[in-house]
Amino acid sequence: MVIYVLRIGHRPERDKRITTHVALVARAFGAHGFILGDVVDKKIMYSIKKIIERWGGKDFYIEIGVDSRKYVLEWKRKNGIVVHLTMYGINIDDIIDNIRKQNKDILIIVGAEKVPPFYYKYADYNVAIGHQPHSEVAALAIFLDRFYEGRELYLSFSDAKVVIEPSNRGKRVRRVG
Ligand code: SAM
Repeated sequence: MVIYVLRIGHRPERDKRITTHVALVARAFGAHGFILGDVVDKKIMYSIKKIIERWGGKDFYIEIGVDSRKYVLEWKRKNGIVVHLTMYGINIDDIIDNIRKQNKDILIIVGAEKVPPFYYKYADYNVAIGHQPHSEVAALAIFLDRFYEGRELYLSFSDAKVVIEPSNRGKRVRRVG
């Protein structure tokens, strides 16, 4: 079972930082890939790869500039499910067990400004992380956390060059590769 995150509506001049954070949350919280829809922004790719080089995750799949709508339809055709995160959707508490039980590949869509009706229509699940507007980064993190029931916080990457030694003060980083 794989989980990919599709970021739609990225505006290179405004969203570089937040889109990079979406990708970093995807990697750190247990998704297996990040897809940037409709825009080729190599800076995003570069930022994620830099993190992966040091902190691991070489198998994390990254693709930029796909046609988002085709990607969604193709994902469904291959029997994966599509989850669109939106404050207008069904509260995550009421649907997460059902999504987990499907045991299918999941494409999680997060938007930027206004999300076109297409995604509401073709998503198998429109899921709300509460019904207030907030952020794609927060929405994705909470979705993955609920999906994995907290286990993602213990993820490690076997190809990491450095790992953190948790400490109450200061920064302890150990070189391992
Ligand atoms: N007005 C937009 C909409 O139609 O949902 C909100 C834009 S918000 C800045 C950017 C993205 O954050 C949304 O496309 C959605 O993926 C995510 N998001 C924001 N609040 C959310 C919430 N309460 N539940 C789920 N996702 C949310």
